[in-house]
Amino acid sequence: METMSRDSAISAIEGYFDDGDFMQDLARRVAIRTESPEPERRPELYHYLTDEMTPYLQAIGFECEIHENPRADAGPLLVATRTEGADLPTVMTYGHGDVVRGYDDQWREGLNPWEITVEGERWYGRGTADNKAQHTINLAAMKAVIEARGSLGFNVVALIETGEECGSPGLKEFCVANKDLFKADVFIASDGPRLQPGMPTVFMGSRGVFNFKMSLELRDGGHHSGNWGGLLANPGVIMSHALASVVDAKGKLLIEDWRPEPMTNSVRRAIAKLEVGGGDDAPEIDPEWGEPGLTPEEKVFGWNTFEIRAFETGNPRNPVNAIPPRAVAYGHIRYVVGTDPMGFLPALRKHLDAQGFENIELTAERDFMNATRLDPDHPWAQWAIKSIETTAKQEVAVLPNLGGTLPNDVFAEILGLPTIWVPHSYAGCSQHAPNEHVLAPVCRSALQIMTGLWWDLGDGKTPAST
Ligand SMILES: [Zn+2]
Repeated sequence: METMSRDSAISAIEGYFDDGDFMQDLARRVAIRTESPEPERRPELYHYLTDEMTPYLQAIGFECEIHENPRADAGPLLVATRTEGADLPTVMTYGHGDVVRGYDDQWREGLNPWEITVEGERWYGRGTADNKAQHTINLAAMKAVIEARGSLGFNVVALIETGEECGSPGLKEFCVANKDLFKADVFIASDGPRLQPGMPTVFMGSRGVFNFKMSLELRDGGHHSGNWGGLLANPGVIMSHALASVVDAKGKLLIEDWRPEPMTNSVRRAIAKLEVGGGDDAPEIDPEWGEPGLTPEEKVFGWNTFEIRAFETGNPRNPVNAIPPRAVAYGHIRYVVGTDPMGFLPALRKHLDAQGFENIELTAERDFMNATRLDPDHPWAQWAIKSIETTAKQEVAVLPNLGGTLPNDVFAEILGLPTIWVPHSYAGCSQHAPNEHVLAPVCRSALQIMTGLWWDLGDGKTPAST
């Protein structure tokens, strides 16, 4: 009987997709121009939560409250709760209603970022992949379970923020101040890509990100190289040598304290089953790049990397025959659990001083997101993997953490929740670029998977709460 109903909930969600209702819900959401990096779009952020998400959630029994962001310049947050019983498990879920800029004039002919355009399996539109389809799928799947079972069988607290594309300003403060709202047994949400489009994927955390600036200012202005070349130190030359002392010509990190701790066996085992790359628009991997001796998968899921985001000396748009007065490089580290981000700049300072680069100044960016990871053997991870495999009838790709970064440190560390992410996009989705899209078959499969997952969460056979 229970199995019958699980199946009937899943076939109802297939109908939701096949009848075009999913596209209709998504199209309405894509049409709201929630570009959080544009201050003048602020009313659209409220509009998304107030006029789109709130009525949808209220209709399926959620109580909704829109909260101002603790940071004055950042977008609002929606907290929606549905409570069925104190003895039932509680899930926290999350999504973001904001998108990056539309870049309207850069989209391919015939596409419009604020409308869904279908071409074969691809549905184009800004925010389809990141993150509107993803939270639309998860909430529609809850609706399907409510309709099939009469209830969820668990409690939900959903948080929809509108600042993720600006680095989630205020999210941490909001969760610290409202910890009681987010008491839950498990966190399950969706963002980011599947490992391969046809392969259901879970990840349990993300790498952290740490940005900083290296600057060297030797004098006020440039000086003619004919008169002064050979006499005045060139900051561009000095900066390039400093950078070369941090990372070698093949991308290997040269600062011992920036290298991560060795991977645990369970992490190594999970990573060994993965294969990165693939997809039509994916670039070719440089096999010689990065830490020698690691597999490509270990490099991106189990290691720390340093990138130069930007580097400037003189004026590259108008080069002149002079010794430039200053040089600046923007550094960027992605790091895994076990590395303390507070140690990055002190280690770099010590390293640069030892190399004779004492006059290069280092400045950290104010906000960073910490690395998180749940052990792939954790009971909630195992539970979710089993549920997804039951629905999809195939093996699930398990990433101990995403190579990219999400504000997962808020949920894992501040709220102390086991975190499970089930991504519904794929690496070639052009998120953050023109021509963003989702793949229809992946959305359909994601609707089935999430319906099965919510069904199982209300089925009474979940890991004990901690
Ligand atoms: Zn994004």
